[in-house]
Amino acid sequence: MSKNTEILLAVLGTTPQIITETLYYYTHEHYDSIRSFDKIIVFTTTVGKKVMVENLFKKGKLNKMEEDLGLKKGTFKFSKRDIIVFKDKDRELDDTRSEEDNLISMETILSEMRKYSNDPKTRMTATFAGGRKAMSATMSAAFQMLAREQDELIHIMVPDKKMEPPEKFNWYYPEDPASKEEELLVSRLPVLKIGKFLPIDTNKGTYLEMLDYMQDFIIDSAPIDNLTITRNIFKHNKEELVLKPAHASYLRYFIKKRKNADCNLDCKGCDKCFSSYDEIAEAMIKEILVEHSKITKDTNKYGHFLHAKSERETWLGSNRVLTSDGLKVLRGIARSDMSRLKGIIKKANISMQFKNDMLIKNQRINAQKQFGVTLRNKKNIKFEI
Ligand SMILES: [Zn+2]
Repeated sequence: MSKNTEILLAVLGTTPQIITETLYYYTHEHYDSIRSFDKIIVFTTTVGKKVMVENLFKKGKLNKMEEDLGLKKGTFKFSKRDIIVFKDKDRELDDTRSEEDNLISMETILSEMRKYSNDPKTRMTATFAGGRKAMSATMSAAFQMLAREQDELIHIMVPDKKMEPPEKFNWYYPEDPASKEEELLVSRLPVLKIGKFLPIDTNKGTYLEMLDYMQDFIIDSAPIDNLTITRNIFKHNKEELVLKPAHASYLRYFIKKRKNADCNLDCKGCDKCFSSYDEIAEAMIKEILVEHSKITKDTNKYGHFLHAKSERETWLGSNRVLTSDGLKVLRGIARSDMSRLKGIIKKANISMQFKNDMLIKNQRINAQKQFGVTLRNKKNIKFEI
């Protein structure tokens, strides 16, 4: 016995055979895929419902199949009540053709799926073999938003001949499952399961709202593809991040280090592209100071630069090397400058995507905490001044 509550979800047009074929497949031991469904939900139009009721119930195809499989009548837990017809307010749809119709089907499938996807003990088996192509796409999209690891998206195929008249109207399941002419093929479709693995509430909002959340989240997680730096202005497309010259000098130093490092583009931080506190302290009298000078040269902020320069240089020994006290002091200044910089970037009025790439990250490298940025598109980083 499976410990899951098994849910079968299907979209259907005017081929109710999809239901009998699927149930047959999961019931007959020939296929070695026994799955007994506790709930069967079918999404369709008024036309689909009519054909389904007529054939599966009135003509008794479902009971007949139970009989042929040696099962008690009513073993398949499926009745007219489990047929969900797409509805625009009070009007039931007889077809799904327009963009509006497709959105209605999407909302319907999504809200029904939500009922099951919150219970970790359920397993959803969703099939998109029936209905119009847009209905299939809709089922897959809802599945991607709500499916968990155990859930499966499946497709069922029968020999082409069974889908052509006259058999199209009469053939509901195999007489002999071993016969090549009656072969049922069920394939699981590997798809990306997204919604349940993102930090969003999948129980809230319409389909379009959820789609927006997810799309934004994915865009925010993607690296920026261009960056132009002019003095203390960092520009990505039309967005600008403007920092105080002193803060900008650190960021420019980290960005240059990353740009010039020959590590992989997807490096998350290594010896070549990141710096330890000692290296940052050293850079404060060299590279970071140079950046500060470039930013402020010919501006009224040049005085600040000269002030920072002379303050930092008081910590140089006679050989123009930082004294051990100097190293300690400059490490302390770097720590507080970088923490202030982090706060400013976090609060900046720029997209999450831009923010993520401008934030200075830290990594433990060679038993040391090291800092840097993880920009990917190094070729598109330009320093104008
Ligand atoms: Zn690296």
